[in-house]
Amino acid sequence: MTQWTFAGGAAAAAPIVGHADNENHFSALSAINADNVGRLGLAWSYDLDTRRGQEATPIVVDGVLYTSTAWSKVLAFDAASGRLRWQFDPKVPGATAIHTCCDVVNRGVAIWHRRVYVGTLDGRLIALDARNGKPIWSVSTVDANRPYTSTGAPLVAGGRVVIGNSGAEYGVRGYVSAYDALTGKLDWRFYTVPGDPAKGFENPQMASAARTWSGQWWLDGGGATVWSAFSYDPKLDLLYFGTGNASPWGRREDSPVALDNLYASCIVALHARTGQYAWHFQTTPGDHWDYDADQNLPLATLMIDGKARDVVMQASKNGYFYVLDRRSGKLLAANNFVPVNWTTGLDARTGRPVINPEAKYYETGKVWVSQPGALGAHSWQPMAYSPATSLVYIPAQEVAQPYLRDPAFKRQPVGMNNDLDMASTSLPDDPAVQQAVMATLKGYLSAWDPRARRERWRAELRGPWNGGVLATAGNLVFQGTASGELQAFNASDGRKLWSYAVQSGVLAAPMTYSIDGTQYLAVMVGWGGVFPLVAGELSFKSGHQVNRSRLLTFRLDGKGQLPAPPAAAAPSVHAAKGPVDAEQATRGARLYTRDCSGCHGDTAVAGGVVPDLRFSAALDNDEFWRTVVDDGALSSEGMIGFKSVLTAEQINDIRAFLTQRAQAAASRL
Ligand code: CA
Repeated sequence: MTQWTFAGGAAAAAPIVGHADNENHFSALSAINADNVGRLGLAWSYDLDTRRGQEATPIVVDGVLYTSTAWSKVLAFDAASGRLRWQFDPKVPGATAIHTCCDVVNRGVAIWHRRVYVGTLDGRLIALDARNGKPIWSVSTVDANRPYTSTGAPLVAGGRVVIGNSGAEYGVRGYVSAYDALTGKLDWRFYTVPGDPAKGFENPQMASAARTWSGQWWLDGGGATVWSAFSYDPKLDLLYFGTGNASPWGRREDSPVALDNLYASCIVALHARTGQYAWHFQTTPGDHWDYDADQNLPLATLMIDGKARDVVMQASKNGYFYVLDRRSGKLLAANNFVPVNWTTGLDARTGRPVINPEAKYYETGKVWVSQPGALGAHSWQPMAYSPATSLVYIPAQEVAQPYLRDPAFKRQPVGMNNDLDMASTSLPDDPAVQQAVMATLKGYLSAWDPRARRERWRAELRGPWNGGVLATAGNLVFQGTASGELQAFNASDGRKLWSYAVQSGVLAAPMTYSIDGTQYLAVMVGWGGVFPLVAGELSFKSGHQVNRSRLLTFRLDGKGQLPAPPAAAAPSVHAAKGPVDAEQATRGARLYTRDCSGCHGDTAVAGGVVPDLRFSAALDNDEFWRTVVDDGALSSEGMIGFKSVLTAEQINDIRAFLTQRAQAAASRL
């Protein structure tokens, strides 16, 4: 009756996010199809108790819908009626947020033998009883003394729960762990970068990878974190994942040449039973631009040159679409799916990028505006592969970014450690410049033909940072957008067939399921993630969103209605009092960019998820300001106290900068 039932046997495939363990985000259901999708209406909805980004793909097993939310909470619903069965809150300490680059998100659960597995933001892996949400076991997967977090969905492969972690921007050593799904006992761990050579290497791969690093890389951990999706081929027993950037982004060593830094920014295959290395393909050797290769890796069988090839595919952050033989890792195709300027091309045989000399900002000392930038041509938002059309559907974007090395960089105790001079490359407070930069930002749904190596159609969207994709046998492609629409397109030609206003930006991928012959569509709604947190004014290009976090489900002729959104309140301006010392504000701007802009936005313009500090009542209130900024009165929501990190004088400098920004905003209201 439902799309998934529990399969017997420890080695059986388990349902995971992305509709199967192949991460295709494709469903064979076709009751909702290109002919009738216009009748789709709301079935039921549920308002979530967080106001941060929602990135999970729900899973439906035996009539129950399981999903996770920001702050790693788990909920279970009757999938047909929407009745809440249970919820589980792992009570993640709010201060964990200071170690997250990209919001306090969670990308979903794994399910196996009546157990629900969730990775929590603070690095725990918890097995819950699927019937009641009660914990069965819980293990810590990370060293709590390092700035690790965990946001990706686990995967169950061959009776093992596999999970990675995040933190390459902060200075951690990446790895993948596999735990016995029944007991929670650690089975194996594969590091993605070598550790301190004095302590010995874990395997021959680490010993050879160490030759691709120089200096004392292990002091920064090396990065290369595995922070998003896994794919699994049960026939080959191979586990596939991508790794993140090396740490820090810029020149990491005193080496005269940039080295490859294995296995950072790389696609890796391991034998799932043993955790031993099978093969790797490094998408960006010597990555200095944050070109994580963590995007989802659909598995498919494609007819190439008259032969059926089992492949693994990725639309990478670096702008290239890769097709690899999934047994050997051999490169079959690599083509850019967006404009790129950081290379002058790829080596046709190896796929190794030929780096544009100007892109080596870490050597030139000059500003380099890279296309793509760190937001990527495609980030974690899942793309879909349809075996019905043999096309992949990519949530693609064009967001260039300036990079400038900070020669005075010193490791910070909290916050990002990227050795970039971001204060000097902040967006100027000039509407003309802002308009010009915004005009270059693009987002679109790209239907890419992996065999012909070209785009078949494109649906233009308002701006970048749109949701993940679902393709179905109903010849449909579903995608939510940053501007607050859930849309359906004809999978063959890209015609828009249906749209629904969901009242907040969508990041997550929709999924679909069937109960007693009725097909449903489900999606997690809730604006957030790195773009609105960091990009400030630029994030308004996609529609000036607020976060309304909900789970929405749809069915044909659904008659449900969302309550009308409350009218937006006019921003109240504080801190209009008194002149600001310009020099103090300039010092404060640099400190703000280093320690605050990662959440509150470039040049103190917030993107609709956390408070916009230009309009904060704390600016006018000494007591309010001190208890929050110095003492951490809001640390349960992720705002730690900064008095252990910044001097009183530095905190005052930041306040002067924010006052200056508040006065500038007031003058335009
Ligand atoms: Ca990264």
